[in-house]
Amino acid sequence: MSRGSPGAPGRTRLVLATRNPSKVREITAIYAHLGVDLLTLDGWPGLALPAEDAETYGENAARKAGAVARATGVPALADDSGIEIDALGGAPGVHSHRFLGDTATDAERNARVLGLLQDTPDARRAARYRAAVAIASPDGSVRVFDGVCEGAIAQSPRGRGGFGYDPIFVVAGDGRTMAELPPDLKNQISHRARALRAAEPALIEMLRRVGEERRASSAN
Ligand code: IMP
Repeated sequence: MSRGSPGAPGRTRLVLATRNPSKVREITAIYAHLGVDLLTLDGWPGLALPAEDAETYGENAARKAGAVARATGVPALADDSGIEIDALGGAPGVHSHRFLGDTATDAERNARVLGLLQDTPDARRAARYRAAVAIASPDGSVRVFDGVCEGAIAQSPRGRGGFGYDPIFVVAGDGRTMAELPPDLKNQISHRARALRAAEPALIEMLRRVGEERRASSAN
């Protein structure tokens, strides 16, 4: 990954339209095999991401990727994600990041979820992570891909890996929390991994097309 630089000329570049270092780390690991320069927004410190106030993950991701691709002139990828808890009617869902306000810590959000579910038996603690990954080219075309990871809310936090709700999210069929899994296993089964895998063929095609257009315009 090239941090904080607009990338080497002539290389295939993709900007990650997020300021969440945990998402950058996971996306970079999942797409390492692509051989693409994955740039962070550190190279564009003044660039403001659009507010995440849409009602769907897909729309939020599309807005972020589209805005960054237009502003930088480089293809962009954005992730919008969240956790849906059945016993809370699907909350916090698309509002997962702002659950308890912008200044709450992950530990505070997790404690709040466990408090809300304190009388909920294991059989009714089902939950799932959802991610939408949007890819956008500088000319304005955007495509969105979804990923889901099923699980349940633990009785107490366990594990130190991952981020966000991972210490209280028990992975279906495994029994460990997401935070107890080795990072490479999270990066095979997570909602983000599934959405990124679904996006991969279209992303490769988009990067090929943008590269061809760039070469054609610099030859003229
Ligand atoms: P946003 O996509 O930036 O709106 O924020 C998504 C929020 O959902 C994160 O800040 C986390 O609280 C939560 N979230 C999304 N993906 C994950 C994950 O892989 N592990 C834990 N929490 C996640």
